[in-house]
Amino acid sequence: MRVAITGGTGFVGTALVKALLERQDEVWIISRTAKTPGAQTAKGLYYTTWTELAEQPSKLEGVQAIVNLAGESINQRWTAAAKQRVLESRLHATARVARIVQELKQKPEVVVNASGISAYGSSLSETFDESSPMNTTDFLSGVVRQWEKAANAIEVERLVKLRVGVVLNKKGGAFPLMALPYKLYGGGPIGSGKQWLSWIHLEDMIRLILFCLDNRGVQGPVNGSAPEPVTNEDFGRALGKAFHKPHWFPVPAFLMKTVLGEMSSLLLDGQRAIPRKALELGFQFRYPDVDSAMKELAGS
Ligand code: NDP
Repeated sequence: MRVAITGGTGFVGTALVKALLERQDEVWIISRTAKTPGAQTAKGLYYTTWTELAEQPSKLEGVQAIVNLAGESINQRWTAAAKQRVLESRLHATARVARIVQELKQKPEVVVNASGISAYGSSLSETFDESSPMNTTDFLSGVVRQWEKAANAIEVERLVKLRVGVVLNKKGGAFPLMALPYKLYGGGPIGSGKQWLSWIHLEDMIRLILFCLDNRGVQGPVNGSAPEPVTNEDFGRALGKAFHKPHWFPVPAFLMKTVLGEMSSLLLDGQRAIPRKALELGFQFRYPDVDSAMKELAGS
């Protein structure tokens, strides 16, 4: 399969590129910058830029799938300017993907557009699946709503809106930061500890993206999170257990708000989302519960 990936240089994208190359797919990374000297190189891997494609979209003629992962990182202080970059980078990238698809003579069969599990807003009591309505309760849920709306302009046979949960991996993403206080014997619940965390192991995230690319029955919203979400309290307990470290030092909500500002909502709020569609379509998670994931994440 010939696959184009935006954000193919990022945390999820790098792992996805590797997995696609391993199964002999041809991969085109669409990036803001031309291939840098340290960039991944491999047989079957090609680089192009948004600027090049604006002039010559036919470079991607024959691409069967596009995975759109591009967007400014949310891992920074949420100033007004940063929030604008987080939103606009996603809307622009998605609009550009729609334009590329429009200009290709031979359309790709599928576009997997990343989105977020915060599509449902945050709640302590509700459980969400793909049939649940979207709800705007904070900045990120608003971003996701607009991002998915922008994706609707992509005219393709199958559009998958992959509502990604918190992606866990030993070496990147949020997990090393989550694990740090535990490694320093200072781990514990954050805020009330009752907020939900819908997470997914990176390996399953990549397997799920491949599943979405390969299976013609997959379309529309798909929750990219493990079947067993946990509360912050239970996540912390599992983390402590896996690292043989105590889970005891509570971090009050006001402290998180003072230190992180609005970004603290990432840790203080959450939602319980179930990957109903993936399960119904027969996707099997390698790490369905937090204990199995922690065992791998804490391993050397
Ligand atoms: P990364 O931040 O690691 O990578 C995103 C990529 O987007 C970068 O490699 C970069 O590619 C491109 N990018 C960065 N800033 C901008 C910008 N201002 N304008 C345009 N492009 C930009 O993201 P992840 O791999 O962690 O996540 C992939 C997608 O999944 C993201 O859209 C994210 O919102 C979503 N997601 C991720 C979660 C997670 O836990 N990781 C959770 C929920 C959603 P280049 O430099 O090549 O242009």
